[in-house]
Amino acid sequence: MKQAPQLTHVRISDRVLQIGDSVGNACTLLLGDEKALLFDTMTGSCDLKEYVESLTDLPLTVVISHGHFDHVCGAWQFGSAFMNALESATYTECRRILKDIERNTGIPLPEKLMYGAFRLDFQDVQEGDVFDLGGLRAEAVLLPGHTPGSIGLLVREEKLLLTGDAVSPQMCLFLPESLPVRVLFRTLDKVERLPAERILGSHFMKTFPMTHISVFRKCAESIGKVRGYPYVFPPVPEYKGTVWFYDMHDDVIDEPVCVITPPQL
Ligand SMILES: [Zn+2]
Repeated sequence: MKQAPQLTHVRISDRVLQIGDSVGNACTLLLGDEKALLFDTMTGSCDLKEYVESLTDLPLTVVISHGHFDHVCGAWQFGSAFMNALESATYTECRRILKDIERNTGIPLPEKLMYGAFRLDFQDVQEGDVFDLGGLRAEAVLLPGHTPGSIGLLVREEKLLLTGDAVSPQMCLFLPESLPVRVLFRTLDKVERLPAERILGSHFMKTFPMTHISVFRKCAESIGKVRGYPYVFPPVPEYKGTVWFYDMHDDVIDEPVCVITPPQL
């Protein structure tokens, strides 16, 4: 019998909690004076809503970084969510392959999304939209590359940028909906100019210093210059790529730094 992953959380700051499951997914809970905001919802395998309600009784807004299964599938528990309209194709494809992902990962995924006509209507969120939580504001920033409509949230009061999968030590650009690496360069340039000192992604229980964007850029610049290795995406084996390692272990962030592109011979 498949077991649902367990949930835990760590405190990034007084007003920022990072919730993670036991299989490498995470999401972020922002706590304002009047409202709370959940950024991403992981796979929908756990009772994330109950877990969030154990952490706060503030009215909750849910914002999704992009339409991949490990970010969007928990959204059904909350009734409504914001996601950039450019992600509707990514989400449609995610639902189409959800049964395969469940079989390949062994993670029980929401049957609601796999079968039948269950619909969750997302409200659009665009560049510059601000969620005012009372003493804490989260501002949407479009971060294309990993997917066309990936958004991040800039939390100026915390000097923090939530990035989903859009900026990560392991940068995935090999998916059908991913954009060319030149788009990632533009996104990295944009991120570097934002008034934030740390970034926090949706697969990590820790932040990375903004100064490390220069390392992620060097990693992307190393495509074709270092040896590339064949890569198969375990949840969807037909998605293949080439992984380029810039650093097998970056001591500062305690992570490998690599980028995965479409397959290159
Ligand atoms: Zn993703």
